[in-house]
Amino acid sequence: MKITDHIKNANGKTLFSFELLPPAKGQSIQWIYDAIEPLLDFKPPFIDVTSLREDYIYKQKDNGLLEKLSYRKRPGTIAICAAILNKYKVDAVPHLICGGFTKDETENALIDLQFLGIDNVLVLRGDARKADGSFIPTPNGHAYASDLLQQVKNHNAGKFLHEDIEVEYKSDFCVGVAGYPEKHFEAPNMETDFRYLKQKVDMGADFIVTQMFFDNQKYFDFVNKCREHGINIPIIPGLKPISALSQLINLPKIFHIDLPQDLVEAVQSCKTTKDVKQIGTEFMIQQCKELIKFGAPVLHFYTMGRPEQTRQIAEAVF
Ligand code: FAD
Repeated sequence: MKITDHIKNANGKTLFSFELLPPAKGQSIQWIYDAIEPLLDFKPPFIDVTSLREDYIYKQKDNGLLEKLSYRKRPGTIAICAAILNKYKVDAVPHLICGGFTKDETENALIDLQFLGIDNVLVLRGDARKADGSFIPTPNGHAYASDLLQQVKNHNAGKFLHEDIEVEYKSDFCVGVAGYPEKHFEAPNMETDFRYLKQKVDMGADFIVTQMFFDNQKYFDFVNKCREHGINIPIIPGLKPISALSQLINLPKIFHIDLPQDLVEAVQSCKTTKDVKQIGTEFMIQQCKELIKFGAPVLHFYTMGRPEQTRQIAEAVF
């Protein structure tokens, strides 16, 4: 079922969903099942599976240079989505990214997804490869999420890349895009970022999932600003509980987000990782309660395949 229909059918009740990433190569599908099963009690109508571009994994040396440690390859997002849909009868939402994929490969992916009965996709540009510094489009691939969105919309309309004859084919993917309550880091300002988000919505995006944030006011302002810009589709907040001291540095560095001072101080005062998790959990429970009060359609958790903390939060909130 489409995510927009799940939201409509909920009649204003906030739903619970979460995101997984494909495990590192060498793991089995059991890794995915173990990441899902503790969260099924909260009846997620959908589960997202991210897509990671192949890349080297680096270590930064003392002189600042990068040293290659290994090559990142993971089992395919589509195969994992098929397994989830078949085993749990829960809608699985693959992330489709521009980076690393030609338009033909994307078309093949869409044909596979249609065949498998997958109804939703989240389209994204994808992150830059580490050594590239900034995002470099794949030859014969897409440069922006909006270009990829256009391909999905064309696909829904039965327009294939190399076919000029009409074919009997129907896909009707419900398409999500990313939104950034604290601005995408490359956008020169919030207004420009909104302009490109609006472009994606005008091209037919059906829902938005946000980058993580820790200050609800940023989400509230973002939603209000979207509405002012005529963006009226559901805006699903993305949430990640703090679970380690190192995240005080890593989350702002990787995701370009701010952490509230009271949260930072509380985490800094912790003696053990267990204490940090406790603080992160309590903080997120408060965040969730406020978001539900605001009327967020879904609370979407970035679990990274580790369900325990999200389960604790969901137990307190749903
Ligand atoms: P875009 O919408 O293409 O925007 C990228 C930048 O370009 C922005 O600064 C925007 O303002 C600007 N822009 C947009 N359109 C234009 C245009 N036509 N001309 C000029 N500038 C333009 N990454 C992964 O690799 N895999 C994942 O699975 C993944 N999942 C994610 C899920 C969510 C919910 C979110 C929020 C992010 C996710 N990401 C993922 C990260 C995402 O790919 C990066 O944040 C990426 O840098 C931007 O992606 P986007 O889809 O927002 O890009």
